[in-house]
Amino acid sequence: MSTNAEQILRDIEEADMILVGLGEEFEEKFIDKKNYEGYFHLIKGTKYELNLSEFIKSAFVKQNSNNNIQKAYSNLAKLISDKNYFIVTTCKDNYIMNIGLDSERIVQPCGTYEELQCENNCENILYKAEEYTKGIMQELEVCIQNHNIEKVNSIEIPQCPNCGEKLVFNNMTSKKYSEIGYLPKWKIYTNWLQGTLNRRVCILELGVGVQFPTVIRWPFEKIAFFNQKSSFYRVHQSLYQLSEVLVNKGISIPENALQYLTNNLFS
Ligand SMILES: [Zn+2]
Repeated sequence: MSTNAEQILRDIEEADMILVGLGEEFEEKFIDKKNYEGYFHLIKGTKYELNLSEFIKSAFVKQNSNNNIQKAYSNLAKLISDKNYFIVTTCKDNYIMNIGLDSERIVQPCGTYEELQCENNCENILYKAEEYTKGIMQELEVCIQNHNIEKVNSIEIPQCPNCGEKLVFNNMTSKKYSEIGYLPKWKIYTNWLQGTLNRRVCILELGVGVQFPTVIRWPFEKIAFFNQKSSFYRVHQSLYQLSEVLVNKGISIPENALQYLTNNLFS
């Protein structure tokens, strides 16, 4: 086991609180499309390709079948489950909710594929996505079985009952993202953060890039800088550099966070 790994395990063990940030290296990227290849292929070039592809993604992530991500999550859970932790993740796949950790200690500020919102966000209301997704997947299945590509164009995208605009997934890909889905958890998170003052906090920033720096990277650096008793780890394959203020304090690990959790911390 590397020195870094030994130190990280010791810091987790000795910490009063563990703050975890998870980013792009953990996110489902839909590269290996598995059983969904046919659906993605079917909708290519059709009228509502963008909308339909989001519904297919929503069905895909429900299968929870990305083994590399699951292994890393399961190791993360072993490390922190009996500690006082909080997790902020920019991932939208919701995999984190199936690893046995406390959902009240997890906030997903970039949204998920679990709920729908009006594309105009006219009423700030969310709708459970599951039934809508099932319906659309069934219609796509019929098109595949009948080899009827034309019929894809007549599949109806669910509409907002209030204004008639299309319903889209309540996540950052939506143009008028409704923050109502995550704000209650965000409040719990900011309260938890207030409790970190003068406590030994171990900050683990795992696979977080620079896509949404205001969500994890910058605030985590700030917490590490101001809390004298904190330890800070940044694990990322390419964006592992530490800002100047943390150079003497933080530890930068230039590795893919999934692999680091899977191979290095449990070797
Ligand atoms: Zn509406």
